[in-house]
Amino acid sequence: MTRESEPYDVLVVGSANADLVIGVERRPGAGETVLGSDLATHPGGKGANQAVAAARLGARTGLVGRVGEDAHGRLLLDSLRAAGVDTAGVLVGGAPTGVAVITVDPSGDNSIVVSPGANARLSPGDIAAAGPLLARARVVSTQLEIPLDTVAALVDALPPDARLVLNPSPPAPLPDRVLAACDPLVVNEHEARFILGDAAGGTPEEWARGLLGLGPRSVVITLGAAGALAADGRTGEPVRVASPAVTAVDTTGAGDAFTAALAWRLGRGDDLAGATGFAVRVGAAAVTARGAQESYPTAERAVAL
Ligand code: ATP
Repeated sequence: MTRESEPYDVLVVGSANADLVIGVERRPGAGETVLGSDLATHPGGKGANQAVAAARLGARTGLVGRVGEDAHGRLLLDSLRAAGVDTAGVLVGGAPTGVAVITVDPSGDNSIVVSPGANARLSPGDIAAAGPLLARARVVSTQLEIPLDTVAALVDALPPDARLVLNPSPPAPLPDRVLAACDPLVVNEHEARFILGDAAGGTPEEWARGLLGLGPRSVVITLGAAGALAADGRTGEPVRVASPAVTAVDTTGAGDAFTAALAWRLGRGDDLAGATGFAVRVGAAAVTARGAQESYPTAERAVAL
């Protein structure tokens, strides 16, 4: 656990959800009722996932977020603390804990309804109140499962020596000052195409150049089994980083593990390509086991891949 005077290697500002998963033979259509498996409840949400992934790697990690005063909130706080995440910045109350209600059929296709709940109440005022935690952060990592106003307030409140890692998921139009603060902006193909719109070219290298043109200091594009591409606007051409070949069992939350690993290694002083080289190993390790947080590796396991 991180002591009050210690810096955070990674401070995550983001969502915490309970994932409520039911297996079904067939996902229901409009007006239809189907019977499913027993309910499985897992801790999730991009913010909590990233925080658990970073802590499991050995990073001193904190989370700034909001959960409800309910059983799902307690589940999330317990899983964060069990992983070693400092939860001093997790506010409780204001709305029910966010949930994702997930039905999954035997082919693995799913339907998901998200109720953001308390995540939607994480406010710019909450960011102002988290100032003392932000002041201890080397790297701040965030996503878009909290209000965009809150992300913008975070950008405005960042200490000058803290580095911002943003995964714009779920994708939404970003203010220029948010884009300009990213170092890096971390996107998958879908998010890259969303941000670039008609300007998207045909190759990841073209996407990277297009994204850098929008203002971020650096860009990392994840490419699933193919690994990732790192483009540092200060040092030149995009670099491809291959992922180790693994048998993928479940890719849920792989992107969150990747981003957490990237954030940690950047905070330790790796250059962008070096940090990406470590992150692809962590992402690959995460797809070799079921679940999201349950699948996240230690640094030793990721390096051994
Ligand atoms: P998700 O939404 O499933 O969390 P994502 O779409 O944000 O993921 P991906 O590009 O699918 O991100 O995956 C992130 C990283 O995880 C990749 O860069 C890679 O390192 C690793 N990864 C994902 N799928 C595989 C795979 N089949 N084999 C090896 N590594 C993988």
